[in-house]
Amino acid sequence: MRTKTKMIHGGVTGDEKTGAVSVPIYQVSTYQQDSAGNPRGYEYSRTGNPTRHALETVVAELENGASGFAFGSGMAAITSVMMLLDAGDHIVMTDDVYGGTYRLMTSVLNRFNLDHSYVDTSYPEHVEAAIQENTKALYIETPTNPLLKITDLAKMGEIAKKHDLLLIVDNTFATPYWQQPLNLGADIVLHSATKFIGGHSDVVAGLLAVNSDDLAERIHFIQNSTGGVLGSQDSWLLMRGIKTLGIRMEAIEHNTAKLAEFLQGDENVTTIYYPGLPSHRGHDIAKRQATGFGGIISFDAGCGGSADKILSRVNYFTLAESLGAVESLISVPAKMTHASIPADRRAELGITDGLIRISVGIEDADDLIEDLSQALE
Ligand SMILES: *Cc1c(COP(=O)(O)O)cnc(C)c1O
Repeated sequence: MRTKTKMIHGGVTGDEKTGAVSVPIYQVSTYQQDSAGNPRGYEYSRTGNPTRHALETVVAELENGASGFAFGSGMAAITSVMMLLDAGDHIVMTDDVYGGTYRLMTSVLNRFNLDHSYVDTSYPEHVEAAIQENTKALYIETPTNPLLKITDLAKMGEIAKKHDLLLIVDNTFATPYWQQPLNLGADIVLHSATKFIGGHSDVVAGLLAVNSDDLAERIHFIQNSTGGVLGSQDSWLLMRGIKTLGIRMEAIEHNTAKLAEFLQGDENVTTIYYPGLPSHRGHDIAKRQATGFGGIISFDAGCGGSADKILSRVNYFTLAESLGAVESLISVPAKMTHASIPADRRAELGITDGLIRISVGIEDADDLIEDLSQALE
């Protein structure tokens, strides 16, 4: 089955008992047992719920994994993955990792003695150089937020194998429609499903898939022990989102390419970050390891003042955090998503005050271009 067909026919479809075409929402916490200790497959919804299970099954199929898991947020999924590690372990991470992940590592998990190094993972040699005796995992985000840096996943797979490290990939920006890290050597792939997978700015959720039954068992134990599970209503919303993920990503890709072309020709825009442009440093790798470039473009408006002006003038770009929705969203990372990263660290990464990030929606591309054009004037 190809990916687009999997999105419709993969996992658990419908309801055998009634013929309902959509998976029922099992709004239930506990399940009657036939005799003490003999449940019919489900005992308690933190441990397992049929609606969540249907979602987890399709996620495993989309990512070509052994098992899938659904969490109450992307951060809950990431936290659960980190729980695979022990105090004293070290992890090498992409340096412009999602702000919430940065905060989790530097302000929460550091207190449990989980050590980490931030590396520009778009340079594989820097990754190798950062590996220590106690390094147990590589944590990669590609493309990154908001600078769209690309890391070579197959290379990371080789490095992970050589040093016996767990390779974890945050695949939020690419989605399983464009990029399947487990096929390139990753052990765990995870998503903020709040973004493209949900796709309609109406649910907060996290998903992950693993490449082995052993990891599946360990993640399920952690998921059940720490309890950050996704509820059945939200699980259903994600399944609905997944059905249109393919066509949404294609529409978003189409619009993003057009906007990138427009921005390239605008004299007020200094730097454009979009892996679909041949001038982007990661373009060739992105082309090799993914079938699409995604729906995020960042560009430098010169200074914070110019960025504010543009934001106040646009009509079709909603000023909001988050990304990956049907509506176009616009933000200034330095003041919004990346505000929790210290200013000197932001400067180091190149997240300037004038940097604007756009998450392109599925509106008519010509309307988006006209709108941005008048805002940039
Ligand atoms: C949003 C996001 C997260 C966190 O997910 P939540 O659903 O907001 O908890 C993690 N990684 C990336 C790349 C994200 O964009």
